[in-house]
Amino acid sequence: MKKDTQIVHSGRNKKWTGQAVNVPVYHASTIIFDTVAELQNGIKNFQKKIPFYGRRGTPTHFAFRDAMVELEGGHDCLVYPSGLAAINTALLSFLGSGDHLLMVDTVYGPTRALCNTVLKRMGIETSYYDPMVGKDIKSLIKKNTKVIFTESPGSVTMEVQDIPAISKVAREQGVIHMLDNTYGNLINFNPYDHGVDISIQAATKYIVGHSDAMLGTVSSTEKYWQRLQDNSSYMGQTAAPDDINLAMRGIRTINTRIKQHQESALKVANWLKSRPEVDLVLHPAFTDCPGHKIWKRDFNGSNGLFSFTLKTGNDEAVSAFLDNLKLFKMGYSWGGFESLVMSFYNLKKERKLALWDNYGPLIRLHIGLEDPDDLISDLEYGFKCFSKMK
Ligand SMILES: *Cc1c(COP(=O)(O)O)cnc(C)c1O
Repeated sequence: MKKDTQIVHSGRNKKWTGQAVNVPVYHASTIIFDTVAELQNGIKNFQKKIPFYGRRGTPTHFAFRDAMVELEGGHDCLVYPSGLAAINTALLSFLGSGDHLLMVDTVYGPTRALCNTVLKRMGIETSYYDPMVGKDIKSLIKKNTKVIFTESPGSVTMEVQDIPAISKVAREQGVIHMLDNTYGNLINFNPYDHGVDISIQAATKYIVGHSDAMLGTVSSTEKYWQRLQDNSSYMGQTAAPDDINLAMRGIRTINTRIKQHQESALKVANWLKSRPEVDLVLHPAFTDCPGHKIWKRDFNGSNGLFSFTLKTGNDEAVSAFLDNLKLFKMGYSWGGFESLVMSFYNLKKERKLALWDNYGPLIRLHIGLEDPDDLISDLEYGFKCFSKMK
């Protein structure tokens, strides 16, 4: 089946949906058993999708988990209250005191904060590596390295990692390869075709797709499934059925949305390339984006997210640009139907590897589903205000 067909039919097992088209929202903490035999069945089949206690999931959870596996691959998938909760539960399920974690230097900021605080206090050591390391990651693996964590493209600066090369080394060395596949969503990148062991999604982004719910997922190969499921359960991780319902609704249009986000973003990115104020356009579909060839080889396409740098400009000029945009709202996150803008990233302070020493102000855009010509007009006016202050 082609992706669009899978998207429409995923997670619609009658066992979960009953006679409805989509799975209903099941609100439940307590599940009631009619007989001791039923209760025993639930205890014995803890790993299976059987309603047992609210935290373990209801048919709403089970339908979404099924849909995720049908669309992303992997053996099975779990839900978490946010993308960041998914990341930290995945890491804590496999790391312990004395272990070493290889973390990509271009990782999403809050993941870095988790490593540098909570994991550090627990005696887990993190080393940051260059996103372009590829197969040379091998030389960074220590005796106690348990996990290699990737995120591709890199947060804000969009470097594309060689995921298959890193998977190959990880497998040979017996290290777990975890990917934050949020950019890849369910359309742009297939983690399990590229050797990843554990794939994490901030479903808050394109899966929910409407900026109105927080949700995370972690899926894994069969090898790591039991440990992931047991540990997530011990840590009390679950998510609200209402939010899962929004994600389930989001899934139905994800490919249609991504295609439009991609097309509009390419139009805006190409326009930005022609602007005299702009230095670099950091979009993986452009040849000068680090790892562009890898992106072309491994990804099925791009989406609405990219960044650009300005040749010069002080904080006041950048503020004038941001303050005068009408359609691009200033806010964190991305992946909704609306356009967003963000700047003032302090990469030099955050990152270990001096990748971004020689560049002007960095601005990230998420291109929503507005008409791209209107978005371009909006940016054009922003640049006018920028130039007055510069
Ligand atoms: C947003 C985001 C997260 C965190 O997701 P939340 O649902 O906001 O906690 C993790 N990774 C990436 C790449 C993200 O963009």
